[in-house]
Amino acid sequence: MKPSVTIAGASLAGLLILSACGKTEPAEKDMVAPVTSQTPDDSGEAADAGMDRALPPEGSAHDPAESERLEAHVHGSATLAAGVDGDALTIAFEAPLMSMVGFEHEPETPEQTEALTALKDAFTIPGGMVEIRGAAGCLPLMTTSGTHFANGHGALEVEHVYTCEKPDDISRIDFKRMSDYPGLETIDAVFVSDTDQIVGELTPSNPSLELR
Ligand SMILES: [Zn+2]
Repeated sequence: MKPSVTIAGASLAGLLILSACGKTEPAEKDMVAPVTSQTPDDSGEAADAGMDRALPPEGSAHDPAESERLEAHVHGSATLAAGVDGDALTIAFEAPLMSMVGFEHEPETPEQTEALTALKDAFTIPGGMVEIRGAAGCLPLMTTSGTHFANGHGALEVEHVYTCEKPDDISRIDFKRMSDYPGLETIDAVFVSDTDQIVGELTPSNPSLELR
């Protein structure tokens, strides 16, 4: 029916580029936003930087790259990028908040604050976003979720990391939450490993990315 799949979203493109040029190098964890190191003060105390790497404040600290990413999104359309690196499977999901909670500004009412908290909590449940099919033996390792606002848009950003006994045996990735969010019409999905680059469009009637 539809031979070509449009890939939207800088994170997908980044992942594809990463895969295309990273054949012999170990793939870096580029999907994790780099933490910008900050010096708390210049008081001249002995550097104790290790202790200052606390969690960044939730929902704050955008950088220009993130602003550009938010400009690119299309309401109704999300991205799902899965990458295998050794025995680690990382699945990053990014969706316009308009499609998830119906607004894209910083929360202004208790109800809106609650809606965003509930959304983030729902996507932080280990194993609660996708089902990993096949006999790969993948176990949830960690999950993160957050929201970003820029340029009049807002996005949900989620990352789930698994460890897999046999990542080559992942046969399919099912997105489990599509029916919960009617505003979510399509998900542009990509799976990248040393041997595979597979793209697909997930829809409410077929929310699965077939790998083999
Ligand atoms: Zn938007």
